[in-house]
This record gives sequence, C-alpha cells and structure tokens, in this order.
Amino acid sequence: MAYLDYNATTPVDERVFRVMAPLFTEDFGNPSSNHVSGRAAAEVVEAARRKVASSVGMHPSDVIFTSGATEANNLALQGLRRGIGRHIKVVAGATEHKSVLQTCTGLAEDGSEFSIIPVNSDGTVDLGKMESIIDDGTDVVSVMAANSETGVIHPMEEVAKMAHEHDALFHCDATQAIGKIPFDGDRTGADMVTLSSHKIYGPKGCGALVATKHARRRIGAILHGGGQERELRSGTLNVPAIAGFGEACSIAVTDGLADAPRQRHLRDEFESRLAHLIPDTSVNGAAAKRIPNTSNVRMRGALADAVMTRLASTEISTGSACSSSTIEPSHVLVAMGLGRAAADESIRVSVGRSTITADIKHAVSEIVRTVETIRAIEGRLGAT
Ligand code: PMP
Repeated sequence: MAYLDYNATTPVDERVFRVMAPLFTEDFGNPSSNHVSGRAAAEVVEAARRKVASSVGMHPSDVIFTSGATEANNLALQGLRRGIGRHIKVVAGATEHKSVLQTCTGLAEDGSEFSIIPVNSDGTVDLGKMESIIDDGTDVVSVMAANSETGVIHPMEEVAKMAHEHDALFHCDATQAIGKIPFDGDRTGADMVTLSSHKIYGPKGCGALVATKHARRRIGAILHGGGQERELRSGTLNVPAIAGFGEACSIAVTDGLADAPRQRHLRDEFESRLAHLIPDTSVNGAAAKRIPNTSNVRMRGALADAVMTRLASTEISTGSACSSSTIEPSHVLVAMGLGRAAADESIRVSVGRSTITADIKHAVSEIVRTVETIRAIEGRLGAT
C-alpha cells in the first residue's frame, strides 16, 4: 500500500509515542491538581508549551492548547468576537480551511461582517484585491501559511504588513506549513498562529492557538469552565497528547525540515512521471511557491472520485467534499478559477517522511492504469 495522503494525517512518530506512553498509565496526574503527581503533569505540559512556542519562534505564554486546528481557528475568530464584545469585521482568504470559512460564515449570520479575499489563478491571495477590501474597521485578517490541497504558500509577510497598517490582527493557520517550510510567527508578523499535532507526526485531537499578548488581550474564551488555559480555554488538559505534540513540534523543525528536500524530489518525480505517462495533465498551483510534499494534479477525462475508488493500493485524496447527497467541488480549486469539471478531475498527492521512490513508482503506475481504463470507458460511452 502506498500511503500518499500525509496532508490528511500522519502516523505518530515512535519518539513521540515513547514520550506519551507512560503518561497514560503511570504519570497520569491532572496538571490542575496541587499535589506531587499533579505538579509533575503540569511540568510535562510546560515543557511541551516551550517546545511548541520555540518551533514557531514565539513565547511559551502565547501557547493555548486546544483539541486541534479546527478549535484553534474557532478560538481565534469567534474568540475575537467574544473578547471585543461587539460585531467584528473579519477578512479571510478564499482558499482557507473550512474551519475558518465556516466560522466566519457563522459570525456573519450573527451580524458580523465577513469579506473574502479572492485568490490569483496560482492560488495565492490577491494582494491588490485585499487592499481594496481591508479598511480601518477590519479587526482580523485570516490567511493560511500554506494550502492543504494545493500546497500553495501565501505571501504572509505582505498580508501581515497590510493587516497591521489597519490595526487589524493577522491570524495565520500554519497547520500545513510547520515542518515543511521554515515558519517563524514573530518574523512573519502573525498575531495568532494555528497548529495541529496530527499533521506533524503527533497524536490526533491536539493542537494550539499561539497568540501574542497583544492578541490575547483582544480574544475571549469560547469554551467555558475551569479556565485551565489562562481563562482562554477550559477543559482538563490532555497531557499525553500535549506532551506528544510538543515532541512532534521539535522533531518537525529539525528532522522535518531536513527531510524537505528529499520529499520535494519525490513530489517532483511524481509530477514528471505522471506528465510523461498521461497526456493532458496539469499541476494546479504550479506557478506559485509550494510546500515541498504536496501535488495537486488535474487529469483530463478522469473524475478524481472514480480514480480514487478504483485505486486498490494507493491512497490519495480529492478536494471534493460530500455534503448531504451531493458532492461539492473543491472550494480551493474553484476559487483559483478552475471550472467544476476541472476541479472534479483533480487529485491530491501528499508525500511524507516514510515515502520512498518505490511508493512513487507504484502510485504512478496504478494511477496511469486507472486513468487509462476510465478514459477508455468514457471514450466508449462517448462513442455510443
Ligand atoms: N487547517 C488546515 C490548513 C488543515 O489542513 C486542517 C486539517 N485538514 C485543519 C485546519 C483542521 O485540523 P484539525 O484536524 O486539527 O482540526
């Protein structure tokens, strides 16, 4: 089986697992308890907090642990509405993750103002259009570091600069960037950074919103209770997951970045082999800078969902989403100007730390065979 879906999730690194294991059975204290095992658990959490912060060049006190990137994105945006105590004006990129876009839609339904920054055909946010959308009333701009479907990297420094010129906060969902490209929240000018553990060889169900003091002063809690995370997020901390997440962050910015050129080579090999063997393919987002592990390819005449269901031993993904009974095309590709047909014919391949050349060769030959079969069937259908 060639697993080429590392942007969806990653296996837990063995070093991460070793850090986590004793925290389930032996060192199981509640970090809020003021006794020996509670204090030991609190120390574990603080050590992880330092690792998470340092992986994005920010301060340990900036880290608010959450259940993942979805919650972190909700905290950044809904939390700002709560903290400011009035309707807000939020501006977000058209290709953001649904956890940003749906949160913004919810805020708009409740009376806040939500504007979308269109993207260029290469997938990067259109800075000219952003300039005409943002104004001094804007409270927050949310633009991701790198897109999960295409790998396209956004011009973060420029977005931050423009946001700050209008005294708006810059929220950056860096879920798909960390461990793949160097990312420094401070240097980027991000006021809030979203991270997820399971995309970087950590456990699922853990992440963080890393928010500067300036941002923390403006946001309020969306989960209420014991106030564990400096009154901004309640709930008993998931100590094993947090410890694993901390370890995964440290490994991401060392081993992860060191492995990036190898992954880029594998990704490029995938794209060139496919282009050579299947006529009429094109790479979505190829004109932009991309994270090294991600490829989004359109193969004319072969519906991505049909390709996916026929692949027996290659795991990839499509950007389409099932909503009730219909299949919606990828909002990312549609925003880049692809028509419905082109979006529906696009697959995503994302390589990772365990991917080797044999996986790429296997995937390419299985995809080629599948596309040829589909095109032949479609051709026969078209001829009748
Ligand atoms: N943001 C981005 C860019 C993502 O790729 C994902 C995961 N697909 C999320 C947010 C949501 O992450 P989580 O699974 O941790 O909620």
